[in-house]
Amino acid sequence: MDNGKIIIVTAPSGAGKTSIVQHLLRKHPQLFGFSISAATRQPRANEVHGVDYYFMDVAQFQQHISNNDFLEWEMVYEGKYYGTLHAEIKRLWNENKTPILDIDVKGAIHIQEQLGNNCLSIFIKPPSIAALTQRLKSRGTETPESLQVRIDKASYELSFSHHFDASIINDDLTEAIAATETLVLNFVK
Ligand code: 5GP
Repeated sequence: MDNGKIIIVTAPSGAGKTSIVQHLLRKHPQLFGFSISAATRQPRANEVHGVDYYFMDVAQFQQHISNNDFLEWEMVYEGKYYGTLHAEIKRLWNENKTPILDIDVKGAIHIQEQLGNNCLSIFIKPPSIAALTQRLKSRGTETPESLQVRIDKASYELSFSHHFDASIINDDLTEAIAATETLVLNFVK
C-alpha cells in the first residue's frame, strides 16, 4: 500500500451517506473518485456492474480473499460479502484522485487501523431510528424482513459513532453535505 489518502463515509444503511457521497463526487470530479466495491448481492434495478459495484459470485469473492486482494472485506449481511479491492484504490490513486469509500462501520474501523492519519473517516448519523425507518421504507428497495435486518443493524452501528474522526447528523441534507464538504476539502488540500 503506498501512502496515499483515503476518505471513508460510513453510516447505518438509510442514513443518507450515498446522497452525500454522490454529491461530492459530482461537484469535485477531479479531486475525488468513488471506490467501487466488490459485492455478492444481486444488482438492484439501475445498478451497473463496474459502476455501482463489481458484482461477483461467492466463489469469485472467496478467491480474492485467498489471494489477499482486499484492503478490507466484510459479510455485511447474512451470506452477502462486500469488500474493497487494493486494485481499486490503486486505480484511483493512479488517476491522482482521493478514493471515497461508502462502506459499513466495521470495514471503516479496519481501514482506519491500517491507514491511521492517511484516512479521514466520517460517520453520518440519521436524526433518529424513526427517521431512518421512514427513509428506508420510502426508498422501496427492502422487504419487511430485510428492512428489519437493516434497522437492527443500524441501532447497533450507531453505538460506534465515536470511533470516527467526525460525525455529522443528517437532519437537513444540504447542511450535512456542506459540513462533509468542508471536512474532505480540508483533508486533501
Ligand atoms: P447496499 O447493499 O445497500 O448497497 O450496501 C449495504 C452496506 O454495505 C452499506 O452500508 C454499504 O456502505 C456497505 N458496503 C458497500 N461496499 C462495502 C465494502 O467494500 N466493504 C464494507 N465493509 N462495506 C461495504
